[in-house]
Order: sequence, then C-alpha cells, then structure tokens
Amino acid sequence: MADNSENWDVVIVGGGLAGLSAAIYLGRAMRRTIVIDSGKSMAVWEPDVQNYLGFPEGIGGEELLHRGRKQAERYNIEFAEDEILDAIRTNDVFQLRGRAQTYSARKVILATGIFHIPPEIEGVTECLGRSMYFCKDCDGYRVQGKAIAVYGWNNEAVEYALGMLAYTPTVAIFTNSRSSQWSAQHQKWIEEYRLPVYPQKIQRLKRTEFQIRSLVLDDGTEVIVEALFATRGDVYYNKLARSLGAHVDKEGQVTIDDHMATSIPGLYAAGCVTPANCQMIIAAGDGAIAAQAINRTMFKEALESHSLKQVRARQLEKERTEPVTI
Ligand SMILES: Cc1cc2nc3c(=O)[nH]c(=O)nc-3n(C[C@H](O)[C@H](O)[C@H](O)COP(=O)(O)OP(=O)(O)OC[C@H]3O[C@@H](n4cnc5c(N)ncnc54)[C@H](O)[C@@H]3O)c2cc1C
Repeated sequence: MADNSENWDVVIVGGGLAGLSAAIYLGRAMRRTIVIDSGKSMAVWEPDVQNYLGFPEGIGGEELLHRGRKQAERYNIEFAEDEILDAIRTNDVFQLRGRAQTYSARKVILATGIFHIPPEIEGVTECLGRSMYFCKDCDGYRVQGKAIAVYGWNNEAVEYALGMLAYTPTVAIFTNSRSSQWSAQHQKWIEEYRLPVYPQKIQRLKRTEFQIRSLVLDDGTEVIVEALFATRGDVYYNKLARSLGAHVDKEGQVTIDDHMATSIPGLYAAGCVTPANCQMIIAAGDGAIAAQAINRTMFKEALESHSLKQVRARQLEKERTEPVTI
C-alpha cells in the first residue's frame, strides 16, 4: 500500500462542511493539512440550502462543497480521495490506514458525519431532499401549507408532528405497522392536538419523479401526502473514534469538550458525528472551533519543545528580521 509518508500537522477525515471549514482555518494558520474524503457528504442531497448565512437566494449543497474545497485549496490544503479504514496512535502520532494510502499526523479531526436511516418504503430515496426529508429545521419552512406525513413510532415522531404544526395544519403520523413506542404524555398530546395516526403497513408510495403524491396502505386506504419526514434515527460514522479509544455516547455520537477535543489527546471531532445539532452552518462553525483549538495547542507545543526557537534561529541567520527604518 502506498505510504503518504509526509508527517502532516493535521489530517482531517471527512471533506463535508465541518472538514472543509476546519481546513480553511488550518491552511490560513500555515498548518500542513490534508483532507481525506470518501465523497459521501450529506450536503449533496440538498439542492437548495436556504439557511446558510450569506446566500439569500439559496445555494445547492454540492455547490457549497465545491466552493469550500476551492477556498481551502487557496490556502494550500491537500486533498485525497480515500476512505480511512482504521487508525492507531503511537507516541502521540496517529497512523491512519486508508484504502489507497496510509497517513500520519500529530493531530486528527474526525468530521465523518452520519447516515440518516430512510423509511422502508420503495421509491422513497428518489425523493430525498425534494419531498422526503429528515430535518424539520432545514425543510419545515419550505413545506408550508402542504400535507405532511411523519414516518415513525417513537416520541421523536410525535414531537416532529407537533413541531410541523407551525408550518401546516395537515400533519399525520404513519407507523408502517410498527407498534407505537411513544410515552403516555406523547399519546396525550396526539389526542389533545388531534393528530391523525395511521398504524397500517404502507404498501407503496405514489410519486411523480421526485414528488411524493400519496401513500397507499395495505387496507386500501390512499392518503394524499406532499412531503414526508422520517424520524428513524441516525447511524454515526464513529468507527475510527472507537478504534482509537475515544469516548462515544450511547447514541453513537463522539463526545467532545467545548473545543471539539475528544477524550484522546490530539484527536478532535466536528460536525454531525458529534452531539452538535446537525446543520450545515453549525458543522462549519464546529470545524472552525476544532481548527482553532488545534492551532492554539500546536503553538504552545512549539514553545515548549523549542521548535519555534529553531524556526526563529533560521530566520535570524538567513533573513532580514529588523524592520527597515527611514
Ligand atoms: C436530504 C438532506 C437535506 C439537508 N438539508 C439541509 C439544509 O437545508 N440545511 C442544513 O443546514 N443542513 C441540511 N442537511 C444536513 C447537512 O447535510 C449536514 O448538516 C452537513 O452535511 C454536516 O456536515 P458534516 O461535515 O458533519 O458531514 P458531511 O457533510 O456528511 O461530511 C462527512 C464526510 O466524511 C466522509 N467520510 C466519512 N467517513 C470517512 C472515512 N472513514 N474516510 C474518509 N472520509 C470519510 C464522507 O464521505 C463525507 O464526505 C441536510 C441533510 C440531508 C440528508
């Protein structure tokens, strides 16, 4: 296997919103940084991002990633298309084994994201980001006045349905024949707010291209639906964090402190793989926080190890170090 034998200051695993933002900060802090990305950012599923600061007309998720990468490249960030399979840490240095190459660095940021579990309905993934959604904060605003299906059977499904009432009067819960697991209080809310619940199995979904039209239930009922929100939970891409011994909470989120540091020295995490609210601008902000924390730590380490002194000695020997006076 090829060895990317350069000793990077920082390896960022994941080139989505969190990873790209961290890269921009680290590049501008003159840290030798590589972003390793397997190319599956969730952002590509959103054709019209409306809640990212600075784009009043909206911007496609793919375009946002493209611009982020271009911006990072401007500050000498390297990129590798690869997938990191495992990682170890020996003597404060991380070794990461990818499908294509191995990499080593003193600091690592995990910005690997998550996978939203889609509903078990054939044809639904074709509607992803167009009429099937996972996030009411991202997409509730754009479905105002529409007939909304909330897919789920737990407290979150009920709370989603209640939250959607801010946007539309027509909201129903579909459990797809699963027995409901919501609490007595949530059942009370269903009754109090008169939320329709369809417990039948969903036989099929009718759609025109990516626009959902209706859900056909196995007793023959056909319910007109214009948008569907799934609440089946997420899979966190935390395998590398776990293999390095970092603490992961019971949901699978990588635990971090206020500076995005994990429980392993030198290992940071940012974006949706952490307990952050999974939004693009939050992921980008968290990536910046991780980068800033690394930058501060590396500065302190350079003072302690006297490596900054060596840099200064070279400057004093080879370059003008006094300002010109006139
Ligand atoms: C349908 C849909 C619509 C959305 N709409 C919006 C919206 O309108 N507004 C909003 O704010 N948010 C929206 N989101 C959420 C948004 O996409 C996420 O908040 C954002 O992408 C999170 O950034 P991230 O960097 O944490 O993860 P991601 O952007 O998902 O990036 C993670 C990256 O890590 C890479 N990776 C993972 N494991 C490895 C590995 N082992 N080796 C190498 N690379 C790896 C992946 O390939 C991926 O490129 C939407 C999400 C979906 C699914």
